[in-house]
Amino acid sequence: MVEIELKKGKEKAVLQRHPWIFSGAVEKIKGKPENGDLVKVLNGKKEFLGYGYFNAQSRVAVRLLSWDEGEVIDKTWYAQKIAQAIQLRTDLISLEDTNTCRLIFSEADFLPGLIVDQYADFLSVQILSAGIEKAKPMIIEILVDLLHPKGIFDRSDATARTHEGITAENGLLWGDAPETFIEVRENGIKYHINIAEGQKSGFYCDQRDNRRVLASFASGKTVLDCFSYSGGFTLNAFNNGATAVTSVDSSALAIETLKQNLELNGFNHKPHVSIQSDVNKQLRNFKDEGRKFDIVILDPPKYAPSRSALDRAARAYKDLNRLGMLLLERGGLLATFSCSGAVDIETFKQIIAWAALDAGKEVQVVHQFTQPIDHPIRLSFPEGEYLKGLLVRLV
Ligand code: SAH
Repeated sequence: MVEIELKKGKEKAVLQRHPWIFSGAVEKIKGKPENGDLVKVLNGKKEFLGYGYFNAQSRVAVRLLSWDEGEVIDKTWYAQKIAQAIQLRTDLISLEDTNTCRLIFSEADFLPGLIVDQYADFLSVQILSAGIEKAKPMIIEILVDLLHPKGIFDRSDATARTHEGITAENGLLWGDAPETFIEVRENGIKYHINIAEGQKSGFYCDQRDNRRVLASFASGKTVLDCFSYSGGFTLNAFNNGATAVTSVDSSALAIETLKQNLELNGFNHKPHVSIQSDVNKQLRNFKDEGRKFDIVILDPPKYAPSRSALDRAARAYKDLNRLGMLLLERGGLLATFSCSGAVDIETFKQIIAWAALDAGKEVQVVHQFTQPIDHPIRLSFPEGEYLKGLLVRLV
């Protein structure tokens, strides 16, 4: 196995069990590892630090899998890690309510670059590192053994793969191909999901708990669901007695799926309007028309893909939230989210405070949203904390 020696003093993060070694920390590479090869990492005194996957192309030169010299990274190791991740979900999530969840969440489950989502009898796999890509056939065998799915679909079409020098993949990996739309349930609501073409790996199961919390305030209220995708917040709001919901999303497939989902749940006669439009533009139109809602939801895509994009993203979040607040009366609720890992909760609060100032409103935070238990935050990997939100009330 190729050995990689770190520069003096650069082992601190590794000793704290952080799984990333940046290329700038590497002193010497003894040999010529290929991207995705397993390597042994040593400190400046040539003492063992860990095993991980090497990548010469990525800013993260090594993704660590193990800090134990006696461990062998083989099929048994993978099977044990995968079984442990699945067990956590089985222990903590009521499958009566939900048959869709994230079974494996990359670094948080000690499998850097591997994401596996369950959609009823199907699995959707996303591989974001060259090392895991090499282990893919073995991982598929283990998933089949442990879960007996009907089919496993590859949604490794994220741009993150380009940083690792691996090409995008989208297609059936094992078993039967899912129908164009398969049905899942969550919070007692049914959804159609397009595993092959839907966004992310098909569905945003990370908002499961937040949809339930938001819905508990929706009875008798008018709701504006911005960035509605397949209707997670819209459907939960109707399920809890919202009087009218308007959903806005720029994607035609999102709007089509949302309409199917309204019908699937018998909500097709509810007072609902769906608008395929850019949210910022639509919010400005509503403001000009003097429209008001009791609850406004803002769940935009990731505005800050990295820390360097933080300033621009902060301005975009601020402007979006300012517009959202202008559509609320006193007592109205704004549920606002950020899924940018680079924006932490304190920064997000500051952005919302600026938005309120600009809108000329006073707001109180009445609830903080976070990511659910199938997206755990490993404390030695704080970067895994990405989803945050605030429920604010205009006073
Ligand atoms: N709230 C959703 C998830 C939102 S994901 C849920 O609970 O499932 C973000 C959504 O924003 C995607 O559906 C995407 O199509 C949409 N989107 C991205 N940019 C947009 C824009 N400028 N205007 C409107 N929708 C946008």
